[in-house]
Amino acid sequence: MAQGLEVGNRVRLKLTTLDGETEIEGVVLPSALPDHITIKLANGYNVSHPLESIEVLSSTKSEPTATSPSVSDAPQNQDLPTVRIIHTGGTIASKVDYTTGAVTAQFEPSELVEHVPELLKIANLQVHKIGNMFSEDIRPNHWNQIIEATEQAFEEACDGVVVTHGTDTLHITASAIAFAWSGQGGNPPGRIAFVGSQRSSDRASSDAAQNLISAVKWAAEGPQPTGELSDAVVVSMHETSDDGACSIHAATGVRKLHSSRRDAFRPVNTTPLATVRIENKLVELQLEGHYQEARMNIVPRTITTKADRYDETIVIRQMVAGPWLTTREVEDAVGSNVDALVIHGTGLGHLPIENPNDDAPQNIELHQALEQLSLPILIVNQCIHGPVNMNVYSKGRIQQNIGLLGHGITSSPEAAVVKLHFALSHQLDVPTIMGQNLLGEQQQTILN
Ligand code: ASP
Repeated sequence: MAQGLEVGNRVRLKLTTLDGETEIEGVVLPSALPDHITIKLANGYNVSHPLESIEVLSSTKSEPTATSPSVSDAPQNQDLPTVRIIHTGGTIASKVDYTTGAVTAQFEPSELVEHVPELLKIANLQVHKIGNMFSEDIRPNHWNQIIEATEQAFEEACDGVVVTHGTDTLHITASAIAFAWSGQGGNPPGRIAFVGSQRSSDRASSDAAQNLISAVKWAAEGPQPTGELSDAVVVSMHETSDDGACSIHAATGVRKLHSSRRDAFRPVNTTPLATVRIENKLVELQLEGHYQEARMNIVPRTITTKADRYDETIVIRQMVAGPWLTTREVEDAVGSNVDALVIHGTGLGHLPIENPNDDAPQNIELHQALEQLSLPILIVNQCIHGPVNMNVYSKGRIQQNIGLLGHGITSSPEAAVVKLHFALSHQLDVPTIMGQNLLGEQQQTILN
């Protein structure tokens, strides 16, 4: 590494480009390409230039972790819609702490805004910090905290809310907040968008800025949710692995389907509600045709100001169907007092419960064990895409006859499990609720 170009240093560089010489200033990041330097500019963007094209004019060591001004210190335009960022943590709030050498550090919500100053052109921003957690650590009590924070934001006249969240369980929490607001006929007063990022904000390849711009755009200017079309809560993430567009997904119809790609979030059995295009300083929100058309054909629900909560004591045991599933797992679960079982079925939602060759007695045992249970047993889809359909094979019919639930589910599997938790939390009749379309989570078309 050339002198003065150590990661974390604040540098001023002279650059020779095809258009002549220019100067840039920023903080040195780990290089995105061999023989290049990567700099985070003051506007939040990262740029890389060949080392041979630069001259170091000045270089100073960064001070460790300066305190950021709160977002209220930033110049705000009160004429813009008000959006509150509810901050829970995740990669979107993480950075490599280059100055101390520590592996990661956490952003404060105000720093997120500082890194993406374009946000202040879209909305008058407020922040509410719930925590700085990675989302694998999120529990139903955090769902309840987020629900309360959204209620409070709307009570205090926010037009929309953005929840920053780790990506691993983002679709689960987003579904939980959707059922909380719209599971029993409600419709939130404004828009709620969840956002995360696959790469931390200070990496050259970060998707954080555009995902956040898109989420704030939806929260500020998106249409009033209908409550019917799974639009009470949406997820804003990269549309492809390139920059330039983010998809606005229905919370109950999206899932993290890749552990590292920037377009990890893909729709499940549906297509996005809208796209936010971000190019050359222009940020444009386009509703997709199917969503626009559906909006015209329904009467939006009455707006409600309170959302439901989740019972934090509910225990749901999940298991995976396949060669290893036996009565033992089911008995262990029941012995430990669970409220419901969820089994991720194979294919259309099948379990190993028949013994056609007369050489797999454990299948018959499993059949009998499941038949005897009185607690709800929900089948979801290991394939992720496609419905749970227990009408196609006789196996599925047998499963329905012994009371297994889930036939017809077309939401994401995680949304179905959250719906079960929601029903249990409010002592709703689980078989009835699982067969209903509460907020648009059930894509009707794919069963046809
Ligand atoms: N494990 C992290 C989380 O879910 C990953 C991320 O944020 O993207 O919080």
